[in-house]
Amino acid sequence: MKRVVCIGGGLAAIYFSLVLSEEIELYLILGEGPEDSNSYLAKGGIAVSLDIADQSAHIKDTLVAGAGLCDPQIVKEVIENSSSILQDLKARGLYFDSNPSKEGGHSIARIQHISDQTGKFLVEKLWADLKKRKNTHFLYHTVATQLIIEKGICKGLTIANYLEGTCKNIFADNVVLASGGCGNLYAQHTNGIGANGEGAGMAMRAGLLLQDMAFIQFHPTKMYLEGKLENILVTEAFRGAGAVLRDNKGDDFMKDLHPLSSLAPRDIVSLGMFLNMEESKEKHVWLDFSKVDTQHFMLSFPYLFDAVKRAGFLSQEKIPVTPAAHYQCGGVLVDSNSASSIPGLFAIGEVARTGLHGANRLASNSLLELFHFAAKLASSEIIQTNNYGAGEDELISLKIQKPLELLPIENNLKELMWHSFGICRNLAHMEIAKGELDSFLPIIKNFEADYLFAKRLRNRIETAKAIAIAAIERTESLGCHQLMN
Ligand SMILES: Cc1cc2nc3c(=O)[nH]c(=O)nc-3n(C[C@H](O)[C@H](O)[C@H](O)COP(=O)(O)OP(=O)(O)OC[C@H]3O[C@@H](n4cnc5c(N)ncnc54)[C@H](O)[C@@H]3O)c2cc1C
Repeated sequence: MKRVVCIGGGLAAIYFSLVLSEEIELYLILGEGPEDSNSYLAKGGIAVSLDIADQSAHIKDTLVAGAGLCDPQIVKEVIENSSSILQDLKARGLYFDSNPSKEGGHSIARIQHISDQTGKFLVEKLWADLKKRKNTHFLYHTVATQLIIEKGICKGLTIANYLEGTCKNIFADNVVLASGGCGNLYAQHTNGIGANGEGAGMAMRAGLLLQDMAFIQFHPTKMYLEGKLENILVTEAFRGAGAVLRDNKGDDFMKDLHPLSSLAPRDIVSLGMFLNMEESKEKHVWLDFSKVDTQHFMLSFPYLFDAVKRAGFLSQEKIPVTPAAHYQCGGVLVDSNSASSIPGLFAIGEVARTGLHGANRLASNSLLELFHFAAKLASSEIIQTNNYGAGEDELISLKIQKPLELLPIENNLKELMWHSFGICRNLAHMEIAKGELDSFLPIIKNFEADYLFAKRLRNRIETAKAIAIAAIERTESLGCHQLMN
C-alpha cells in the first residue's frame, strides 16, 4: 500500500485527505489541530465567480491586487474552477448563505459565506467526514520538525509528540506540507497558534526554494486585548456598516489620509493606523461604532457582537483595534501540480507559493486556492505512482521543557518582526534586525539535539530569516511590502 504523510490540520490538509483515494495509507500530522488552525478562524468566505463574465472580472481583480507578480495562468486556472469547488462543498452537505458578500478589492459581491464564521463551519463538517475514513491515521499533539532528504529526494520526516517528549522518523512515498502561514512570528497577528512558520522554515532548511516571502499581508483591525492570547478579527464589513476609526484624541485621522477615510484600501488603513500609533506611542486606536444600528450589529455580525460583549466594550461603543499580521502571500515555490523543487515533496495551502496572490492577496482568494490545489494534488497520478518511502521508525527521547537560555530569543522575536518587517519597513532597521536573527541561530543550535523547543524555534527563525532576506532584497515598495525612510 502506498503511504502519504500530510503535515497540517487545517482545510488544505483536511480537503486533500478527503479527496485522496482510500487505497492510500495516510498519516496526518496534526500540529495544534483543526480548531487552532487559521482555517477555523476564516470569517469572510470563499471568492467564487459563478459565470463567465464574472470570471474575467475576478481574474482582473486578482491581478490588480497582486501588483504584477501573479502568475496569470494560475489565476485563470483557479478562478475558472471556483464554481466547481462551491458545488463540491454543497454536495458534501455545506449550506452557504444566499447573499454573497463584497470585500475590499472585489468589483462585485462574490464571497460565498456561512454566516460570519465560514471557516468554523467548513472545518467542523469536513473534519467530521474525515474522521469516518479508514485509511487515515490521526497523529494528535504531533509536529513535524525536519524533512528527510536523501540523494535529493524527500523520503519522509522527523515528527515529535510534544506531550510525550518523543521524536521519530517516519517514511513515505510522498510528503505533503500543509502547515499554514506564519502570523505568529509577529507581536500583533490575527492567526491561530499553529501558524508560526515552522513548516516553511523546515522546508528552507531542507533546501527548498521559497518565493515572495517579503509579502506579509496585514489586516487593519484586530481587537486589541492587552495580555490575552485570543485573536479577534473585526471584519472590514463592520466599517462598511458605519464604524469609524479614531485616534486616542477622538479624531477621525483617516480623513486626512484618503478620500474613503476608514474605508480606504486595507494597506492604506493599516499604514495610517500604524503611523498614528507610532507617533502617539499608544498600542491601539479606536473603532467607534456609535453610528452602527444595534439590531444590524447583532444580526449581521453575531460572532463580533458576542466578542465585543464578552470583552466589555459594548456600552462604551468603541473597540480598541490594532493592525496585525494576517496572511503569508509567499511560501514554498510549487508548480501547478503543487510539486516543490524536491521530488516526493508537495506543498498546499498558505505555506505554498502557487502564483495566485503575487505581491498581495485578494480577500477570500486563499480558501479558494487551497481547495483547488488540495483536490488537484489528491487526485493526481503522481500521488498514486511515486515510490520513495522505505525505512524503519526510530524512536528518540527529547526534553519538552523550554531551556531558559532560549526564552529571550522567543520573547524578542515577535517584537523584532513587528517593528522591522511589519507594515512599514526601513532598510537600515531591516539589516540590523537580520543581524539579530543570524545571531540567534548558533545559540539555538547548542540545544537542538536534546530539546524539542529548540528544534521548533530553529524552524521559526529560519522562516523569519526568509522574510528578512526577501524584504531586504526588494528595494522598492510593492503590494504589501512598504518601504519608508
Ligand atoms: C482571522 C482570519 C480570517 C480569515 N478569513 C479568511 C476568509 O474569510 N477567506 C479566505 O479565503 N481566507 C481567510 N483567511 C486566510 C485562510 O483562513 C488561511 O489562509 C487558510 O485557512 C490556510 O489554510 P491551511 O490549511 O493552509 O493552514 P491552516 O488552516 O493554518 O492550518 C495549518 C495547520 O498546520 C499545523 N502545523 C503548523 N506547523 C506544523 C508542523 N510543523 N507540524 C505539524 N503541523 C503543523 C497548524 O497547527 C495548523 O493546524 C483568514 C485568516 C485568518 C487568520
